[in-house]
Parts: sequence; structure tokens; C-alpha cells
Amino acid sequence: VGDVNIDLVVVGQSQVPQPGQEVFVDNMLMHVGGGAALFALSLAKLGLGVAFSGVLGADSNGSFIREQFAQYGIDTSLIETSKVHRTGISIAFNPDTDRSFLSYAGSNQELALERLELDRIAQGRHVHLTGYRGRENHATFLAVVKQLKEKGVTLSCDVGWDDSGEWYEGIFELMRHIDVFLMNETEALHYTRRARIEDGLRHMADYGKHIVVKLGAEGAVSMKDGVLTRHPAFKVEAVDTTGAGDSFNAGYLYGFLRGLDVETSLKYGNACGAMSVGAYGGSTGTANMDGLLQFLERHEGGRT
Ligand code: ADP
Repeated sequence: VGDVNIDLVVVGQSQVPQPGQEVFVDNMLMHVGGGAALFALSLAKLGLGVAFSGVLGADSNGSFIREQFAQYGIDTSLIETSKVHRTGISIAFNPDTDRSFLSYAGSNQELALERLELDRIAQGRHVHLTGYRGRENHATFLAVVKQLKEKGVTLSCDVGWDDSGEWYEGIFELMRHIDVFLMNETEALHYTRRARIEDGLRHMADYGKHIVVKLGAEGAVSMKDGVLTRHPAFKVEAVDTTGAGDSFNAGYLYGFLRGLDVETSLKYGNACGAMSVGAYGGSTGTANMDGLLQFLERHEGGRT
């Protein structure tokens, strides 16, 4: 459940245009973007049955995204079409390093938690929820989480953190209700106000029983039932870091949903993350299960 848009990715390093300037670039690629959409695509590629819930515009970009989803067998029947907004677009500059974005949220602005079709969504066995905005929507988000749990699904969340946003301790309350809570390193240190990730994880273990922190080129670490497990990243050349975290989430949750152990889930997560950063476009680099296993065969000797 969450955001979906078009990502325009400027290939290679480029200046971001200044007012009055036109900058020519070697190439620009168009992909599906948005954290929830990239997660859905990567998970569907791995072979799980996925339905996506979000809002698209009634335009050709929206049709392009629907076609991409359909190509990977994603159920699009929960997607709403906006009567007001066009499909969102995000232009990414310098995708391999210090990324800058020019973004139009478009139809994502209409994604309303209180209007979600929870009965239909809960026909799946697991729901991955995004779009938590701290104090602004805590009560509604928590209410949706509790209703979904009552309907018998397991839940995962990647809530994100925006430096401009106000810190809100309600996140710890949310953790109590989520089966797998995922975040990146910056978010983990912000949430817990700790300097070391291990200390942060121990703090969060008082609230969530299964927490996963993504550490970029360092891999990832999870704390499940008080046990801390680390897995290093795979060594790849990063060309576009967009969607690395969402692709990681897909690999990790594939492991969780298949009942695999934490070590294997971290390995699958890191492999999907590495495949994602190795190609332009948030989920273009990720593969089906055969591709993932081949990636592991090629790289397991060469971990960082
Ligand atoms: P987010 O995109 O959510 O900020 P990270 O930057 O931590 O998350 O990246 C998510 C995952 O992608 C990491 O845990 C790792 O598995 C993989 N990853 C990210 N950057 C690299 C890299 N340079 N080399 C290899 N793997 C990477």
C-alpha cells in the first residue's frame, strides 16, 4: 500500500540546472518509481502473488505503470484513478551519489488511509504499509494497522524519515503492532537518538519483536526476539541507489513470508539491494528467484 510515480533518471553525473540554464545530459530513462511500487515489483519478480493499492492519474504515465505492473503479474484491481491529479513524476539527478530530485507528488496526494478497502486488502496474508507521517497521521495509521491485524494478516512497515519532519515518539507504539519493521541507518539513529546502530536496535527491541536496519554499502542487521544478526553487503558498482531499500525489503520479506531464517532473509535482502543499485531504475536490476540464486553464486565469494 502506498506511493507510485514515474521516475525519470538522468544517466551518469550531471549538473542540476540553475535558474535560466538548460543542461544537456547523455541519456534519461523512464521507470516506475515510488517506494511502495518498487517494493511490489521486486516482490512480484521473486514469484510471490502481489496486489498493489495506490492512486494513479488518468493519463498515459498511469497506463504505463499499470502495464508494467501487469507484466509482472501484479493485481491492479485495488488501484484508484484520480479525477483531479495526474500521475506523479520525479526527476533524479546524480543517481549513484548525492541524488537530487525534482518531484511532483501528483495523484499520491489522494492516497487516504481512511478510505482503504481493508476487507479486500486483508484477503492477502501479509500487508506492507507505507505512508506513516508521524503526528500528522499517527492515529489513523495505527487504527488501520489494528484493523488489519484483527483481520488476521501479518504486517510490515517502512516508515521513512524526512529531515524536515518533526520527530514523533509514537513510532515506538507503532512498532509494537508490526511483525517486521524496516528502516535505514539514518532513520534508526534518529528514532533512538543513539550513536551506534547496535545500541539503537537494543532500544527498539523493547518495542518491536522483529526490526531490520539497512546499512547501505555495509549490508544490513536485524534484531529478532532479542537476537542480533548482521549480514555484509555484496560488492557491486553502484550506478543508481534509488529503490535499494525497497528492493532490500522485498528480498527480506520474501524470506520472512517463506519461513526462512533471518540470516537467509538478510542475504536475500542484500542481494536484491545490490542488484537494484547495480542498474538504473529502482527495480530494473532485481530479478526472479533464479536470477537471485545466480547472483548469489557469482557473489558469495566476493562479499565486502
Ligand atoms: P535506503 O535506500 O532505504 O536508504 P540503504 O541505502 O541502506 O537503504 O540500502 C538498502 C540496501 O541496499 C542495503 O542494506 C544493501 O543491501 C543494499 N545496498 C545499498 N547500497 C549498496 C552498495 N553501494 N553496494 C551494495 N549493496 C548496497
